[in-house]
Amino acid sequence: MLRRTSRTERTGSAEALRLVGVTKVYGSADNRVTALDDVSLTLPAGSFTAVMGPSGSGKSTLLQCAAGLDRPDKGVVMVDGEEMTGGKEAALTKFRRTRIGFVFQHYNLLPTLTVLQNTTLPLKLAGRRVDNRLAREVLDRVGLGGRVDHRPDQLSGGQRQRVAIARALVAEPRVIFADEPTGALDTRSAREILSLLQEAVNVHGRTVVMVTHDPVAASYADAVLFLADGRLVGRMASPTVDAVAERLAHLGDLVHQSQPTEV
Ligand code: ADP
Repeated sequence: MLRRTSRTERTGSAEALRLVGVTKVYGSADNRVTALDDVSLTLPAGSFTAVMGPSGSGKSTLLQCAAGLDRPDKGVVMVDGEEMTGGKEAALTKFRRTRIGFVFQHYNLLPTLTVLQNTTLPLKLAGRRVDNRLAREVLDRVGLGGRVDHRPDQLSGGQRQRVAIARALVAEPRVIFADEPTGALDTRSAREILSLLQEAVNVHGRTVVMVTHDPVAASYADAVLFLADGRLVGRMASPTVDAVAERLAHLGDLVHQSQPTEV
């Protein structure tokens, strides 16, 4: 008899990402900067979260630490219920390659590879079987079915970012981290990219964490986390453009009242 599977069964742990007391300090002695200060948060699988805050508030550092691209000085990062911090560099790289996808502001595509080759590159790097049929399906889904043999310089910015999204999706990661994914795009392409990220969450059950400074981009997420001075100072569910802009304008007030918040 067929049994319906719950979302938890389909996607593994119900909790996609957990940070506990994550602290990151740059520099030493008299030029120390605490980029992240005791940050704790939990994101459920199948959620779309935007991370916002003023320049220098720690957004990139949070993303780098949460994605295993950098190591926190203190604290623990768990992806899909498994600890990512600790362990050797090679183990961390393997962990990252199997569980995490990235979408960067400037696409980070290899110029000499075709769209299809760029899309399957993470699978190759991870030593996984390259399923070109699946890759073509994903490229179809992001509207690039007719461009699989093009090279990045034959594509518009919006199309290049779609390749980056296809590349992130094809490896079926637990969490996709997007760093200002619409920062270099015109309004229309930006909207299309944000809709694709939403679809990755709502239709395909992925978990997306997106750093952005744009309230419009943030309004596509299920929730927004606000950072200031390396601390989490607030969370907003069901964000609207106006509510996000208003909260950003008053973040300074929150910093002075805040204790470390867990969200
Ligand atoms: P945001 O992404 O919100 O602009 P960042 O995470 O880039 O913030 O930076 C947080 C703080 O850490 C800033 O004060 C920044 O100058 C500092 N910082 C970031 N990366 C480094 C680094 N590699 N070396 C020294 N300081 C850094």
